[in-house]
Amino acid sequence: MSFDEIYEGAVEEGKEPKKLFKQVYDGAIIATSYAEILLTQAIKKHGGDKEVRYPDTAYYLPVIRALSGEDVTTIGQLPAILNKKRAQIYEELTFENARLAGEATLYAAEIIEALQYIDTDQPYEEPWLGFISDPVVRKYGIKMVDWTIPGEAVIIGRAKDSKAAAKIVSKLMGQGMMIFLSDEIIEQLYEENVKLGLDYIAYPLGNFTQVVHAANYALRAGMMFGNITPGETDAQRDYQRRRIMAFVIHLGERDDVKTAAEFGCIYCGFPVVTDQVLGEGEELNDWYVSEPDYDKIVKLAMEIRGVKLTNIDIDIPINQGPAFEGETIRKGDMYYEMGNNKSEAFELVRMVDADHIEDGKIEVVGPETDEFNEGDKIPIGLVVDIYGRKMQEDFESVLERRVHYFINYGEGLWHVNQRDTVWMRISKEAIAKGFKFHDYGEILIAKYKSEFPAIVDRVQVTIYTDAAKVSEMHQEAKAIYKRRDERLKELKDEKVDTFYSCLLCQSFAPNHVCILTPERVGLCGAVSWLDAKAAYEIDPTGANQPVIKGEAIDPVKGMWQSCNDYFYKESHQTLEEVNLYTMMDRPMTSCGCFESIMAVIPEANGIAIATRNHSGMTPCGMTFSTLAGSCGGGVQTPGFMGIGRAYLTSGKFLPADGGRARIVWMPTELKDEIRDEFNRLCEEDGLGPNFIDKIADETIGETSEEILPWLEEQGHPALTMDFIMGE
Ligand code: SF4
Ligand code: ZN
Repeated sequence: MSFDEIYEGAVEEGKEPKKLFKQVYDGAIIATSYAEILLTQAIKKHGGDKEVRYPDTAYYLPVIRALSGEDVTTIGQLPAILNKKRAQIYEELTFENARLAGEATLYAAEIIEALQYIDTDQPYEEPWLGFISDPVVRKYGIKMVDWTIPGEAVIIGRAKDSKAAAKIVSKLMGQGMMIFLSDEIIEQLYEENVKLGLDYIAYPLGNFTQVVHAANYALRAGMMFGNITPGETDAQRDYQRRRIMAFVIHLGERDDVKTAAEFGCIYCGFPVVTDQVLGEGEELNDWYVSEPDYDKIVKLAMEIRGVKLTNIDIDIPINQGPAFEGETIRKGDMYYEMGNNKSEAFELVRMVDADHIEDGKIEVVGPETDEFNEGDKIPIGLVVDIYGRKMQEDFESVLERRVHYFINYGEGLWHVNQRDTVWMRISKEAIAKGFKFHDYGEILIAKYKSEFPAIVDRVQVTIYTDAAKVSEMHQEAKAIYKRRDERLKELKDEKVDTFYSCLLCQSFAPNHVCILTPERVGLCGAVSWLDAKAAYEIDPTGANQPVIKGEAIDPVKGMWQSCNDYFYKESHQTLEEVNLYTMMDRPMTSCGCFESIMAVIPEANGIAIATRNHSGMTPCGMTFSTLAGSCGGGVQTPGFMGIGRAYLTSGKFLPADGGRARIVWMPTELKDEIRDEFNRLCEEDGLGPNFIDKIADETIGETSEEILPWLEEQGHPALTMDFIMGE
């Protein structure tokens, strides 16, 4: 099927909106002419060899790259590209021609914007963002294409007043939408103190052609996650139409250039709704429509784009949705604080049986938010009881870790850590809106029910704020944590007959496959064997699948026929054999989300560990980010391997390579985090007490020359082990 079929039915025979198409035509001519003028000036000034690029992207000029396949690096390449697009602006006023003119306008806008970035990475001042870098696109990208973020609204222009602007945007935020803003609406929103910025996935792009940064964001998502080959225009448009649930809301006065740019969006499959009354010959069924009523405009835009709302309505006085996940609450904005050693705090999710639960019940044991004083350090215990016919005790910890996300989704609520190290804040604003502890219960119940319908049948939440009660329940919680930890410790690779796969990262590393074993977490650190097992029970056709172990081909290096078969199939025939317990011989691949990366240091006959949190140099001669660039992408790179930090304290830490005794370098921040557990295990491994102190770090040196003499002094075992690279 050709992509263009989606436009069928938009225009009735003999009723073409000629006036609208004429505006698009005129706008495209203006935009491309303007781009040409700027381009000619720039070439005159800098010469055609002058480099052109946006900061922090691997996708060149993404609109041009995605739609034409061209990797633009110098301004001298641009005239030919622009001319080709100008040649597709036809005078004949048809819908198809209007879309082509729209595409040309997007190219023009991208060229105009890219020229702003000559000689500077930051042509725009705060609060305008301009181009949004790849790390941001990556960060929210999966949520964008799997619809955790249900859609993207691009709002252009100026609302009838600032209150109306705030109302529209708050509504979109409450529904968890990603928002791109261009023109005066940005100032209007700031006037109303609406929170904008990267943390809120509400991007104030700027004015005029800066709106193209919404398009290059969406198109990059297609290349990153959809793995669409640059230049396969129809495949890219098809992906955009299917996965990127974007639409445009145009507020206030219309002009030809904006209209032409909006047809560029229509070319990508995104419809436009405007608050302006459209005259005869200006409306296009389902694609360019008018809705002057501000109470209806968002709903209409979502309907014509087919956005499915995943964010359920929860009856609480604050907004909630993924838009608020990254929000931090600084000291000055905070009303109450809980945990972080200032008050006793814990959270617990536990499985209960059917007659020990009253579905939907929320109880606050102790004072409510209006019975404390501002700044009080409040003791708190959050206990979530869950009953489900398919619930298992093993899922408790998996579900418990979701508390973090669910609470952070609340505007003005902040949550870090887990179990009895939790640390929470409630903002002044949330309290002013009437937020109560009771509302934690509302959020948790609604979320557990909507996100885990397969295993959660009944939920009941108790919030303890009475100090004595918190202490009492905390003891109970501790006993449960301890039981869980003991059980976890017993989970050994040898004791299970099934491993689980994770294919989540294939959305951007299409051949990457993680196999999770009880003793090895995913390299992202976020998915364990238990998580994958739970995820499989919750959604048997999802990204986590069981792999029945069977007989091992090589139990030391960790190779199983069953795993090989699975790798082969799911890596699209790019991986034939994989060893789970070595990094030297056909090792597991990495996608890009590694928490840390291990690299062999041949001179030291050992391995160094680089972590995402340590930006400095490492003795393998590369920083974490350079390493990340050289071993991601789902290919086997012996001598390098991405791992989750927890793997360092696993019973199956590279047994085939000599285990923990091989580690010769890691940053101090990692040492600090794992010290006790790591030392305990090393002692069990026969490496003596405090082995971590024999491992070099950045205070000892950042090159192998610097650390080698020191390692010798320490009598580090790696120096006398078999040569790590083999014979
Ligand atoms: Fe899954 Fe591996 Fe990606 Fe983590 S890194 S999400 S375990 S595929
Ligand atoms: Zn990954």
